[in-house]
Amino acid sequence: MKIALIAHDGKKPEMVAFAMQNIDLFRKAELYATGTTGSHIEQAGIPVHKLLSGPKGGDAQIAAMLAVGDLDLVIFFRDPLEKHPHEPDVQMLMRLCDVHNIPLATNPAAARLMLKGIASQLRDEE
Ligand code: PGA
Repeated sequence: MKIALIAHDGKKPEMVAFAMQNIDLFRKAELYATGTTGSHIEQAGIPVHKLLSGPKGGDAQIAAMLAVGDLDLVIFFRDPLEKHPHEPDVQMLMRLCDVHNIPLATNPAAARLMLKGIASQLRDEE
Protein backbone atom coordinates (compact mmCIF):
# COMPACT_ATOMS: atom_id res chain seq x y z
CA MET A 1 0.00 0.00 0.00
CA LYS A 2 1.55 3.26 -1.13
CA ILE A 3 0.04 6.35 0.48
CA ALA A 4 0.82 10.02 -0.25
CA LEU A 5 0.50 12.55 2.57
CA ILE A 6 0.27 16.29 2.01
CA ALA A 7 -0.82 19.02 4.40
CA HIS A 8 -0.98 22.74 3.88
CA ASP A 9 0.75 24.73 6.63
CA GLY A 10 -2.41 25.37 8.66
CA LYS A 11 -3.18 21.64 8.61
CA LYS A 12 0.21 20.15 9.48
CA PRO A 13 -0.59 19.63 13.19
CA GLU A 14 -3.76 17.77 12.16
CA MET A 15 -1.72 15.61 9.77
CA VAL A 16 0.79 14.68 12.48
CA ALA A 17 -2.04 13.87 14.90
CA PHE A 18 -3.73 11.79 12.20
CA ALA A 19 -0.50 9.92 11.46
CA MET A 20 -0.03 9.14 15.17
CA GLN A 21 -3.61 7.86 15.42
CA ASN A 22 -2.97 5.52 12.49
CA ILE A 23 0.62 4.64 13.23
CA ASP A 24 0.16 0.85 12.97
CA LEU A 25 -1.29 1.01 9.48
CA PHE A 26 1.13 3.74 8.40
CA ARG A 27 4.13 1.66 9.55
CA LYS A 28 2.95 -1.18 7.28
CA ALA A 29 2.44 1.18 4.31
CA GLU A 30 4.99 2.91 2.14
CA LEU A 31 4.52 6.61 2.77
CA TYR A 32 5.40 9.48 0.45
CA ALA A 33 5.00 13.12 1.45
CA THR A 34 5.73 16.62 0.26
CA GLY A 35 8.90 17.97 1.89
CA THR A 36 7.74 19.90 4.92
CA THR A 37 4.83 17.60 5.67
CA GLY A 38 7.28 14.70 5.46
CA SER A 39 9.69 16.33 7.93
CA HIS A 40 6.89 16.76 10.47
CA ILE A 41 5.86 13.12 10.08
CA GLU A 42 9.46 11.93 10.38
CA GLN A 43 9.87 13.92 13.58
CA ALA A 44 6.89 11.99 14.92
CA GLY A 45 8.92 8.79 14.35
CA ILE A 46 7.19 7.51 11.21
CA PRO A 47 9.40 6.68 8.20
CA VAL A 48 8.40 8.49 5.00
CA HIS A 49 9.89 9.17 1.56
CA LYS A 50 10.19 12.95 1.30
CA LEU A 51 9.63 14.67 -2.04
CA LEU A 52 10.07 18.35 -2.87
CA SER A 53 8.22 20.91 -0.82
CA GLY A 54 4.73 21.55 -2.22
CA PRO A 55 5.36 25.07 -3.58
CA LYS A 56 8.61 23.82 -5.20
CA GLY A 57 6.91 20.97 -7.08
CA GLY A 58 6.14 18.31 -4.45
CA ASP A 59 2.44 18.16 -5.34
CA ALA A 60 3.41 17.81 -9.00
CA GLN A 61 5.73 14.91 -8.11
CA ILE A 62 2.90 13.16 -6.28
CA ALA A 63 0.58 13.81 -9.23
CA ALA A 64 3.17 12.26 -11.58
CA MET A 65 3.46 9.17 -9.34
CA LEU A 66 -0.27 8.56 -9.18
CA ALA A 67 -0.62 9.08 -12.94
CA VAL A 68 1.67 6.09 -13.58
CA GLY A 69 0.00 3.89 -10.97
CA ASP A 70 2.60 4.32 -8.21
CA LEU A 71 0.16 5.39 -5.46
CA ASP A 72 -2.93 3.74 -3.96
CA LEU A 73 -4.28 6.59 -1.87
CA VAL A 74 -3.74 10.34 -1.44
CA ILE A 75 -4.42 12.08 1.86
CA PHE A 76 -4.27 15.82 1.32
CA PHE A 77 -5.34 18.03 4.20
CA ARG A 78 -6.01 21.27 2.36
CA ASP A 79 -6.42 24.60 4.08
CA PRO A 80 -9.42 26.23 2.42
CA LEU A 81 -8.92 29.46 4.38
CA GLU A 82 -5.51 30.32 2.91
CA LYS A 83 -4.22 31.20 -0.54
CA HIS A 84 -1.48 29.04 -2.02
CA PRO A 85 1.03 30.03 -4.74
CA HIS A 86 0.99 26.47 -6.10
CA GLU A 87 -2.81 26.23 -6.46
CA PRO A 88 -2.44 25.13 -10.13
CA ASP A 89 -0.42 22.10 -8.97
CA VAL A 90 -3.04 21.32 -6.31
CA GLN A 91 -5.80 21.41 -8.94
CA MET A 92 -3.74 19.20 -11.23
CA LEU A 93 -3.17 16.65 -8.48
CA MET A 94 -6.88 16.48 -7.66
CA ARG A 95 -7.82 16.24 -11.33
CA LEU A 96 -5.39 13.37 -11.91
CA CYS A 97 -6.81 11.50 -8.89
CA ASP A 98 -10.17 11.62 -10.69
CA VAL A 99 -8.68 10.73 -14.07
CA HIS A 100 -6.98 7.65 -12.61
CA ASN A 101 -9.62 6.77 -10.00
CA ILE A 102 -7.25 7.15 -7.05
CA PRO A 103 -8.97 7.72 -3.69
CA LEU A 104 -8.34 11.24 -2.40
CA ALA A 105 -9.18 12.36 1.15
CA THR A 106 -9.05 16.10 1.70
CA ASN A 107 -9.94 16.16 5.39
CA PRO A 108 -9.43 13.91 8.45
CA ALA A 109 -13.02 12.61 8.49
CA ALA A 110 -12.74 11.31 4.92
CA ALA A 111 -9.24 9.95 5.52
CA ARG A 112 -10.42 8.08 8.63
CA LEU A 113 -13.19 6.36 6.65
CA MET A 114 -10.77 5.37 3.89
CA LEU A 115 -8.23 3.92 6.31
CA LYS A 116 -11.03 1.96 8.01
CA GLY A 117 -11.87 0.49 4.62
CA ILE A 118 -8.23 -0.42 3.99
CA ALA A 119 -7.86 -1.99 7.45
CA SER A 120 -10.92 -4.17 6.94
CA GLN A 121 -9.69 -5.16 3.45
CA LEU A 122 -6.33 -6.20 4.97
CA ARG A 123 -8.15 -8.24 7.65
CA ASP A 124 -10.22 -10.02 4.99
CA GLU A 125 -7.03 -10.90 3.10
CA GLU A 126 -5.41 -12.49 6.18
P1 PGA B 1 4.87 21.01 2.14
O1 PGA B 1 3.90 21.13 0.90
O2 PGA B 1 4.58 19.70 2.80
O3 PGA B 1 6.25 21.02 1.57
O4 PGA B 1 4.59 22.18 3.02
C1 PGA B 1 2.53 20.96 1.08
C2 PGA B 1 1.77 21.82 0.13
O5 PGA B 1 1.59 23.01 0.46
O6 PGA B 1 1.36 21.38 -0.94
